[in-house]
Amino acid sequence: AKNQEGNSYQYCTQDLTANAFKFFSMEISLKQALKSSQFHLVYQPQFDISSGRMIGVEALIRWQHPEQGYIGPDVFIPVAESSGLIKPLGDWIISAACQQIKYWDEQGLPAFPIAINVSRRQLVDHRFCENLRDTLHFYALPGSRIEIEITESAIIDNEEIAYQNLRKLHEMGIYLSIDDFGTGHSSLINLKRFPLDKLKIDRDFVRDLMIDQNDVAIIKATIALARSFNLKVIAEGVETQEQRDYLRDQGCDQVQGYLYSKPVMPDVIEQLWNTPQHG
Ligand code: C2E
Ligand code: CA
Ligand code: CA
Ligand code: CA
Repeated sequence: AKNQEGNSYQYCTQDLTANAFKFFSMEISLKQALKSSQFHLVYQPQFDISSGRMIGVEALIRWQHPEQGYIGPDVFIPVAESSGLIKPLGDWIISAACQQIKYWDEQGLPAFPIAINVSRRQLVDHRFCENLRDTLHFYALPGSRIEIEITESAIIDNEEIAYQNLRKLHEMGIYLSIDDFGTGHSSLINLKRFPLDKLKIDRDFVRDLMIDQNDVAIIKATIALARSFNLKVIAEGVETQEQRDYLRDQGCDQVQGYLYSKPVMPDVIEQLWNTPQHG
């Protein structure tokens, strides 16, 4: 038994070393990627659940590594967050999204908002709002063209700076949405305190909606909660008509998911405007 313990300890330190190595080499790759513009944004359209009309898009980052190929944000965003690189990367994401809005405006597309994912590290940065204001100013865009998606855990500990920044964003006319709602542990106090506009039901609850009563309960509760706080509700990860119909009957306002469209390159969004909408 002693020997086995010794061995598992050894494996464990080897794992740690391997993980630390992976982490630092990815950190270096990320820095390089920022410098040599290996990132781009794709956009997933969002729809009004009743009319089927497109009402906005969510910007999602993509990394095409020259040797390793596609690396998903689920892999590199956590590394960017814990290394602090999320700040310059986040600034890049916001600039790229604003540049895209400006371009779409020039192409005559309607003035829908772009939802941008923002990490906790960005939100608690003292310069976050000023940087965002400068970028909006540079592209001559009003705050109402931007929606910020933050997770519950980004505001959960009630840090004052996060609260102040969210208030400032709200005053700038920027919309605020709680991402992955139900997966953290939001207190109702938080919802009351923060100037929110929307709750986003996580894909995890939508996936097994037709078979798992617990997911149904969470979805119903989220929609009821949103109603009483006067917030909109959007469901992500909607892949089937059954899911969509169910969500609509429950009073969900908006949908996003493969049933309608995967995240796509900007020119596909432009084409979407010129084709009939889903019913
Ligand atoms: P998220 O914000 O919850 O984004 C939803 C994820 O679900 C996206 O994965 C999207 O492509 C995927 N998705 C959308 N509809 C469906 C569907 O119908 N079925 C399935 N199976 N998946 C669907 P993605 O793009 O890989 O992003 C993963 C996560 O990485 C995001 O989760 C977000 O937390 C983070 N992320 C992505 N882009 C950014 C970014 O620009 N900034 C930050 N801070 N985080 C980002
Ligand atoms: Ca999101
Ligand atoms: Ca999610
Ligand atoms: Ca997420």
